[in-house]
Amino acid sequence: MVSHKKEVLCEVCRKNIAVTICIRCRRYVCSECITELWICKDCYRYKKTIESDRIRICNYIDKMATVCEEKAKQSKVCLQCVVLREMVLSLYKMLRDLINEANIEYYERVLDRLEVLRDRLKQLLIKVLVAQGGLRIYLEEEKEEYIT
Ligand SMILES: [Zn+2]
Ligand SMILES: [Zn+2]
Repeated sequence: MVSHKKEVLCEVCRKNIAVTICIRCRRYVCSECITELWICKDCYRYKKTIESDRIRICNYIDKMATVCEEKAKQSKVCLQCVVLREMVLSLYKMLRDLINEANIEYYERVLDRLEVLRDRLKQLLIKVLVAQGGLRIYLEEEKEEYIT
């Protein structure tokens, strides 16, 4: 007698029979090794590690945004400074890349944080660009980049 039902071992623990496939690494996974996010334990651990790393980058952006906000408030000279403008622009771009990644990988915890930071940086960026007469260029760039 040949069994028609082919049982596959879990590729994570290699002990139990697999019941599903991890949506991230596509390995066969048993009911004990799958998590509520439909990813295996290994992918879950990886996701959490990356999320923590991204939270650390958020903290950095947060800190730098505060420094820039204070500079912008300090004096007209600071507000007109090219270095300040470039700093805010690069923070904003960094943030946008993180948002793209968080959307694809579904880093929920990071996304909440990023959205707050985005609003803050956007306000600051507009303030700096208005003072430096670059708002029109910025808005045009923005329009192009958001077309998907
Ligand atoms: Zn398993
Ligand atoms: Zn996996």
